[in-house]
Amino acid sequence: MGQGDGVESSIDYQALRRLPSIAAVTADPTVADVARGLRPEIVTAVAQRVVERVRRAILAGEEGADPEQVIPEVRAELARLLEPRLATVINGTGVVIHTNLGRAPVSAETAQAMLDAATTYTPLELQIETGRRGGRMDEVTRLMRALTGAEATLVVNNNAAAILLTLSALCAGREVILSRGQAVEIGGGFRVPDVMAQSGARLVEVGTTNRTYARDYEAAITEETAALLAVHWSNFRIIGFTTQPSLEELSEIARRRGLVLIEDLGSGCLIDTAPYGLAHEPTVGESLAAGVDVVCFSGDKLLGGPQAGIISGRADLIRRIAAHPLARAVRADKTALAGVAATLRHYLRGDVTETVPIWRMIAAPVEALEERCRAWAAALEAAGPLRVVPSRAAVGGGSLPGETLESRALAIDAAVAARHGLTLDALAARLRTGSPSLMPHVAEDHLLIDARTVLPDQDAGVVRAVATALGVVVPSMN
Ligand SMILES: *Cc1c(COP(=O)(O)O)cnc(C)c1O
Repeated sequence: MGQGDGVESSIDYQALRRLPSIAAVTADPTVADVARGLRPEIVTAVAQRVVERVRRAILAGEEGADPEQVIPEVRAELARLLEPRLATVINGTGVVIHTNLGRAPVSAETAQAMLDAATTYTPLELQIETGRRGGRMDEVTRLMRALTGAEATLVVNNNAAAILLTLSALCAGREVILSRGQAVEIGGGFRVPDVMAQSGARLVEVGTTNRTYARDYEAAITEETAALLAVHWSNFRIIGFTTQPSLEELSEIARRRGLVLIEDLGSGCLIDTAPYGLAHEPTVGESLAAGVDVVCFSGDKLLGGPQAGIISGRADLIRRIAAHPLARAVRADKTALAGVAATLRHYLRGDVTETVPIWRMIAAPVEALEERCRAWAAALEAAGPLRVVPSRAAVGGGSLPGETLESRALAIDAAVAARHGLTLDALAARLRTGSPSLMPHVAEDHLLIDARTVLPDQDAGVVRAVATALGVVVPSMN
């Protein structure tokens, strides 16, 4: 196709000539329509970038490089700029604390506290009574003390930062003893030995993968030892022929030998999970009562609050941690602090299962879930037949591995999808990219929308999402 100077060339000069000018792109009515609300120089810059990209593609002889692409691509890119990417997704996966979906949604009261903190001035580092400089951590410290007996508390960006900071402040240049069975990777690249190395502490592994005894810790203690570290197995289990000394035993050794006992508790549960048919998840209060000196946990896992890392324990140690230079680098912002405090207040009042979304989901009776699924199926009759099936939901968020909650889901069979001209994967993609966006659980021959993880005010959204994806018109749900 090349027609340069009679020389054979793969460059499509005709296509190059058909590339629109920047002025022509920005003047195009369909572009101008999307561009409303954007500063003109932003629109021009986007147009220049897209024209340049298509020009290069044509010069490189890329297949499908076409000047006709320019206008739709500019339009799409401008639309993307204006549309928040992190808008709501309805969680139909049945995984309550879903890391890819942003972990725990917070309570309305927590959200309001965060909004207030974000949009106004707050006495973040001011003692209102005296007008003097006050501590950022006074409020969370007071709340955690009331809930768990912790002498002091420090809130940082996330639990990974909490552990890195704690080890850096208390153990850098010295040895930390850890059971081989706890030298784990939590996910997202968080590996305990790597974090330890980053902190400047030296890891001393003791015991074996499945069995570690108190005497193993004891035998590894030297002049260089700063701490014993216990790490919660968050997202896996070792069952069968296993031994691991209790926190009480480790605490006894630490106290006798003048060491610090640090625990990475992972999820940071504050209440007993047993009433919900789940295995017992160790709580922050239990760790402290067992003699742990410093415990680190996440704010957005089983606590059900905003992203944060919470460090609680002995006041002298928390002071040392707070004084380390890294503490400033990883400190929590005022919205996170307000959110953690508001979430903790739910625990003080004992209204967690009515107010904190993840606990509301965990505690929801299966009959209520069945009823909601039936209402969805009824509203979607025109798209059906859709079945209501028993399902198993999971807590997720690196807690309670293998534990599931009885649940109910709306099932869309492959045959039903096929009747609408869709494979299950295509239907799932449509649901994800739809408005509202819905993330289903895709199984072998059907797709599930688990009611346990759909927020109470999202029922109409589920119906709308499914109806739109299948291309049917249904009466709106109230
Ligand atoms: C989740 C988890 C972490 C990391 O916490 P983030 O808040 O995600 O930084 C660290 N340790 C354990 C045991 C965990 O479960």
